[in-house]
Amino acid sequence: MIQTENTAIVLRHVNYRDNDRMVTLLSPSRGRIEAVIRNCRKPKSHNLNSGELFALGDYMLIETGGHMTVTSVHLIETFYPLRTSYDRLTCGTYLLSLAEAAAEPEQEQQELFMLLLHTLSRLAFTDQEWRPLLSGFLLHFSVCQGFKPRLNHCVLCGRPIGEETPVFFDPAEGGLCCRDCRRTREQIPLSAENVRWMRKALQSGSASWVNTPDAQAPFSVLRAYVEQRLGRRIRSASLLPEGD
Ligand SMILES: [Zn+2]
Repeated sequence: MIQTENTAIVLRHVNYRDNDRMVTLLSPSRGRIEAVIRNCRKPKSHNLNSGELFALGDYMLIETGGHMTVTSVHLIETFYPLRTSYDRLTCGTYLLSLAEAAAEPEQEQQELFMLLLHTLSRLAFTDQEWRPLLSGFLLHFSVCQGFKPRLNHCVLCGRPIGEETPVFFDPAEGGLCCRDCRRTREQIPLSAENVRWMRKALQSGSASWVNTPDAQAPFSVLRAYVEQRLGRRIRSASLLPEGD
């Protein structure tokens, strides 16, 4: 029986038996972890909040016969304000779903973990617009999952792309596509300011992408790209403020 302490955040939970809960955790060093928190749904449980979505804490885990059980939790943050706004909550849930779709068990996810914490903090504790915030998340998510989009050259002919328009995004090829190479409706038109916004957000730290005007961030394009690369639709996206 091995006991380990893991800083982690709750991505998903499912109630189990009368008082237990199965949680999916994201750990920076171990990726996705499935574990049971026993008795956390009893009203007087010390672990009542540590099985909630977004809970960030140090989770003490025991592994027995291939199953993980949480024995104790030092709760660090609950991101409580996310529960006071439906729009913020749906945005936060979407971020958790993306992280869950990307993370594999026993796989280091340091960058994803930091990106998730950072974005959830902004979502919970500031009034920044959701669209640039989530767009920046998607862009940096693509970087840390190994499919950074190509934004300086056409993905089909390799020609450098400057500030010209029209220009398109090709989700299947993973980057910008010039006018001459556009063949199908799958290649989505972008404005020059969309392209500038993405380049800037990729180059610089997170502070640069959050306070930009709403229209500059091509959220739906980045969403389509990331979901295509993950190979699945993220269902919680349909609940976003402008979901479809
Ligand atoms: Zn081209």
